Formats: sequence, structure tokens, C-alpha cells
Amino acid sequence: MKVLVINTGSSSIKYQLFEMPEGRVLCSGLVERIGEEMGKITHKQLTESAENVFKEEMAIADHKVGMQQIEMLLVDKVYGVLRNADEVSLVGHRVVHGGEDFSSTTQITEAVKNKIKELAPLAPLHNPPNLVGIEASEKIFPNATQIGVFDTAFHQSLPEYAYRYAIPKDLYEEHGIRVYGFHGTSHRYITKRAAKLLNKPLESINLITIHLGNGASMAAVKNGKSIDTTLGLTPLPGLVMGTRSGDIDPGVLFYLNETLGYTLPEIKDLLNKESGLKGLSGENDMRGITERAEKGDKDAQLAIAVYTYRIKKYIGSYIAAIGKVDALIFTAGVGENSPVIRALSVEGLEPLGIELDTAKNQNRGGERKISTEKSKVGIWVIPTNEELEIANQTYELAK
Ligand code: ADP
Repeated sequence: MKVLVINTGSSSIKYQLFEMPEGRVLCSGLVERIGEEMGKITHKQLTESAENVFKEEMAIADHKVGMQQIEMLLVDKVYGVLRNADEVSLVGHRVVHGGEDFSSTTQITEAVKNKIKELAPLAPLHNPPNLVGIEASEKIFPNATQIGVFDTAFHQSLPEYAYRYAIPKDLYEEHGIRVYGFHGTSHRYITKRAAKLLNKPLESINLITIHLGNGASMAAVKNGKSIDTTLGLTPLPGLVMGTRSGDIDPGVLFYLNETLGYTLPEIKDLLNKESGLKGLSGENDMRGITERAEKGDKDAQLAIAVYTYRIKKYIGSYIAAIGKVDALIFTAGVGENSPVIRALSVEGLEPLGIELDTAKNQNRGGERKISTEKSKVGIWVIPTNEELEIANQTYELAK
């Protein structure tokens, strides 16, 4: 069965066509700069032995035109794999915010679309384009069942004492201000993979999952369910990220406004786009920061110290939240590729039963254990695959 996975941004559509249940990728691609003077399409047809790549620059007026291009490429005689678009039975859409309404994968209906629209104020940069992608897909793949997979869904199992903020309760009851958390599809995927690799039933696995990409978050997973997470109402708190501050005293915002004269939009930009690794070191790419730190650059060294100290603090607090932890799991760009960040994040945690094998930590590629044999808590690297998780969930719901 062919499942198309769609991730729509404000000016882009990322896609992968899967053969399910095998989970094999048949085609993948990216339509970029939608609505701009010149757009770009990159499409790959993947066979067992080769990649057949198509690239073109052309004006792409809107998401519907972008989706049409994807359809044409999927059925193309040279670059496609389908005889006609009706072979796509299911389309799985990444939707960033599902609020309290969606704790699991859901078939898209008019009511579901209205809810996604209602939740737009909580994710103004993501939910509106996600909805545009769904509507374009409904038009271009009218015979496929459209399914929504929500980034927030995995964290809907948080207990109330973990998801409530200590602010007047009306703000929660009337306006939904609470912790929602994000990156749920990634945390769920690595939780499922970890259960397989550790040979434990999903229902009894206890993990601390550490997703370190441009955005970054951790989850405390108890009995296979998320019980706490570092992102909140918005994707701003918690860990230090590429350009986002992570945790900060809310009093800093008042100081910026009242004493230094920053406006609210300026503060929003400052915390979202100019902070995190970029704020501390001048750049947001961990590769460059690591190279500079090795050469003695003080700002880069400090950025790494702040970044890894924050992770370590959350490991400690999540051990307290969970009790007995089976494993820590590192994932995403930094988590999968940076031995030094992994090492510094767990340095000194031996008294808590966390013992890194420094040689194994240097290994590259694939799912791998990097703790010593006697470490009470395992340490693993598990590459995330959000698209495959969306395909899996879409397929599971429909079958
Ligand atoms: P996104 O959140 O956009 O999906 P990724 O998961 O691809 O991001 O992660 C991007 C981050 O991973 C960047 O900060 C990049 O510097 C970092 N990264 C990728 N490879 C390495 C590496 N070898 N060492 C350190 N950081 C890396």
C-alpha cells in the first residue's frame, strides 16, 4: 500500500512516498519557495541500487500548484513510481499543534480541520500552513484518505501536575495555557525503537529521550508514555536550541521591555531567532561551534557548556520524575552526530548509574549502544525518522 507523508511549511512542502507496511521509501522530495518569484523542486526516486534525482527551478504560485507538481513527479515515466495518482491510498500529514483535542492520529474531517484552524493562535507559524497542505492534498489526491499526525499527541499523557503552569487557573480553563510539548512524533518513534532494541514491552519501558536538532527537547517516558517534556505552550522553553533561548526567567522579559525599551515583537524575535547557541556564540550550527571550541574560542566553549549543562540538569530532574530509568536515548542532528555533546551531557553522572563508553561513543551511524556494560542506565543513539513514524501511524490507523 502506498502512503504519502506530507510536511507543509509556510513556503515549502516536504514529502516521502512509502511502501507500507514494509516502510520502504520509494520517492522523496522538497518543493521550496512557494509563492516567491522563483521556486525550486527537488525530487528523488529511490531504487535499491540508485537515486534518480530531478531538480527544477520554476514559479510555484501556491501550495496547490506545489502539490500538483508532486503528483506529476510521482506518476512521471522517468522519475515516478506510480501508474496513476489513485495508487496513493493514504496521505499522512504532519500537524504541529493538536491542542487537547488530539491525543492520537486522526482521520481528517471538516470538524478536524476546523479544530486545527481554532488551534492556530497556539502555533501561528505552523498550523495554518499545515492546513493549507491538507486542503491542497484533498484536491490533488481526492481518492486518498487524509490523516493527521500531531506533534503534540505523544505528550497528551502528561499528568495534570506536569502540564499545568502555576498561574491563575482561568488562563488554563478558558484559554488553554498549559504545557503541550512538541517533537512528539520523534520522541514516540525512538521510544518504540528503544523498546525493540532493549527487548522490553513498550508498556514497561522507562526512558529519557533527548532530541537535539535545530529545535531541541527532552521527554521523560514512563511505561512507554510521555510524563514530562521540556517544550511548553510554545517551542521556546527547556533546552538551549539553535536560535531559541530555552528556559529563561520571565522577569528578563519585563526588564527588556521596561528598562531597556524593547517592544514585544522585538522580544519575541530576540528569544526565537537571536538567542540559544546563536546568542551565546554568534552561530547556530553545532558543527562550527564545536570546531571553534576545539581551537580555543571562549564563546563557543561557553555555548557548549551552557547547552550540555542544561541537558544534564534535565536528565537529573527526569530521573526524579521517572524513578528507575532503562536508558537515555540521543537523537536528531546533534544527538546522532556529536560525540562531544553526548559526552559532556552525561559527564559526572556515574553516581546515578549512567556510564558512557568513551570508545563506543565515537562510533558513527545507525542504532547503537554507547554505555559501558556495567552502566545501570543504558545510553543509546537512535536516529529519528519522523516521516516513517507518520507513515506507520497513518497505515496503522487505516488498516
Ligand atoms: P532540524 O531540527 O532542522 O530537523 P537536525 O535534526 O537536522 O535539525 O539538526 C540540525 C543540527 O545538527 C545543526 O545544529 C547541525 O549543526 C547539527 N549537526 C549535524 N551534524 C553534526 C555533527 N557532525 N556534529 C555536530 N552537530 C551536527
